[in-house]
Amino acid sequence: MVIVLKKDISTSEKENIKSLLAARSLKINELKGEESTVFAAVGKLAMDVREVEVLPGVEKVIPISKPYKMASREFKPENSIVEIPNNRGQIIRVGGSRLVAIAGPCAVESRQQMLDAAKAVSASGATMLRGGAYKPRTSPYSFQGLGEEGLKYLKEAGEKYGLPVVTEIVASEYIPVMKDYVDVYQVGARNMQNFELLKRLGALGKPVILKRGLSATIEEWLMSAEYLLSSGTDKVILCERGIRTYEKATRNTLDLSAIPVLRSMTHLPIIVDPSHALGVRDKIPPMALASIAAGADGIIVEVHCHPEQALSDAAQALYPAQFDKIMRDIESLAPVMGKEVAHIRSVDSQKKANAEKITHKKPICVFSGMKGAYAEQAIENFFEDSVEAQTVDSFDEIFQAVVDGKADYGMVPIENSTAGSVYNNYDNLTRYEDISIVGALTLRIQHSLLAVKGASLETIKNVYSHPQGLSQCSNFLKSQKWNAVDTVSTATAAALVAEKKSTENAAICNARNAKIYGLEVLKEGVQNEQNNYTRFVVIAANHIEEPVKQWGEQKPNMASFVFTTKNEAGALYDALGVFKNASLSMNRLESRPIAGKPWKYWFYCDVVIPSECENPVEMITAFSENLKKVAEDVRILGIYAE
Ligand code: PEP
Ligand code: MN
Repeated sequence: MVIVLKKDISTSEKENIKSLLAARSLKINELKGEESTVFAAVGKLAMDVREVEVLPGVEKVIPISKPYKMASREFKPENSIVEIPNNRGQIIRVGGSRLVAIAGPCAVESRQQMLDAAKAVSASGATMLRGGAYKPRTSPYSFQGLGEEGLKYLKEAGEKYGLPVVTEIVASEYIPVMKDYVDVYQVGARNMQNFELLKRLGALGKPVILKRGLSATIEEWLMSAEYLLSSGTDKVILCERGIRTYEKATRNTLDLSAIPVLRSMTHLPIIVDPSHALGVRDKIPPMALASIAAGADGIIVEVHCHPEQALSDAAQALYPAQFDKIMRDIESLAPVMGKEVAHIRSVDSQKKANAEKITHKKPICVFSGMKGAYAEQAIENFFEDSVEAQTVDSFDEIFQAVVDGKADYGMVPIENSTAGSVYNNYDNLTRYEDISIVGALTLRIQHSLLAVKGASLETIKNVYSHPQGLSQCSNFLKSQKWNAVDTVSTATAAALVAEKKSTENAAICNARNAKIYGLEVLKEGVQNEQNNYTRFVVIAANHIEEPVKQWGEQKPNMASFVFTTKNEAGALYDALGVFKNASLSMNRLESRPIAGKPWKYWFYCDVVIPSECENPVEMITAFSENLKKVAEDVRILGIYAE
């Protein structure tokens, strides 16, 4: 059973619960989560949950009927994300919205081989490096691995490219030598049920990839995961690598049906190793893609720069070009699955970040469009001149640049008071779960009519602008008999008019473009609606170990959430009740369809934090815990000053 403790539980109440459970021969594990502390109590004797429920300090008791407890969905309804830091201040997350690719040779063979492999796989987008230093070979006469020397090569190569390293542990006696080199331990198929190894490994608390045994059932596999979890680690990644069947055409039979089955049984992340399942390189790419399509959180594949020289598993080693193609295909497939491919920050952006720290160069804030866009003005208003504004080509690119560390902040339009919501960006906020809102502002949109020197209302024949700009100034334009021409942005219109150098053309855009493009302002405030506003949010990445500082000294006065609800009568009503009970005034509620889940919606909402609130972060965190009781997938997008 899982015993959720009250937040204000006293030490004596805790001790009291522990001694009662111990008296019933239950093994207790205390798990301190970010939001709550729970006791996982496991034992052979059945116990009436009501006996525990009534104890002081107990919030609730969740009985678990499965033989595996801590690995079960009942124990933890939301997906677990295993976080693995690299040496570039970044955290690789397995199990969230990002797909990871672990690649490298079967075995570490030499220093040069590892450096070459790491270079190749990182260039194609791998996020972790694999390589065995202790190889569990079927024959004692096959290459057994380089041992500690191999671990050194693996680590050196991984560090050079910012890739955490994954390597197999075959016996617990190797823990002392391995521990300084390894980021993620792999338990191989042959050791899945080596329970003594699992117990010792679990106690380290380090991430573990647990491969499925050659002939293990899904339940046996989860029981092995339970050994790891109950020994002290919460960082377990399951890896399907093919099982033994009567089929001989492939090395093993890749059981992709295990993925959807596991999803309902466990909260643990799942990756797939198509290399050991297929055994032949040409058959691996389609199954790597199928793994992602089946819902895997990533893949682990064997890649060798010279497969023909590989000392183990040569036939299944992919050429770097094959791996590169797989990664390009996964990039295309990811959006279909509502996911993004994880990226390692480039050394350049790492160097840049460090150099900026030293020279106090300004952080970068990206916006979509050209110089002169309203978003650029929003950056100026929000940051004054403490950041450097840079352009990207689309809203999606703003998010990607921030995630990749190419920019520190992004300025994202979210809603216009006359044109409505910018749905693309609501969707980006839910899709990019490693992005937070760190600030917001509302900008008054005032359009002006710009033209080259010498032009007047009488000389103009054509007017250029974004369709939104043209429609927002329709009253003014109606009074003129001009030819209206659409452009991709309002700033593009200004650039075009400047380039054409004719007094017959004018642009409708922000007046700041006059300076940028050498134009004159013929008329200001030509918009129909004088109260025309766009709300922007400022985003930053939260997967960086040292998150960029929250902007400004101002106390947070806004919080944004996303959540989903069960598909049942009154589910949204219940969720909204939590806001009412917390006296949180909601000033925005949007619903967006969830890709791939027809008729299920993300609810996005903004709430105002009352000014008398002393500790907004604590208050909103506690509130989100309450919301989780009636809503699903609750995520705080940000607690920030607007
Ligand atoms: C390996 O990953 O190199 C390996 C030996 O895998 P498995 O345990 O799945 O056979
Ligand atoms: Mn191998």
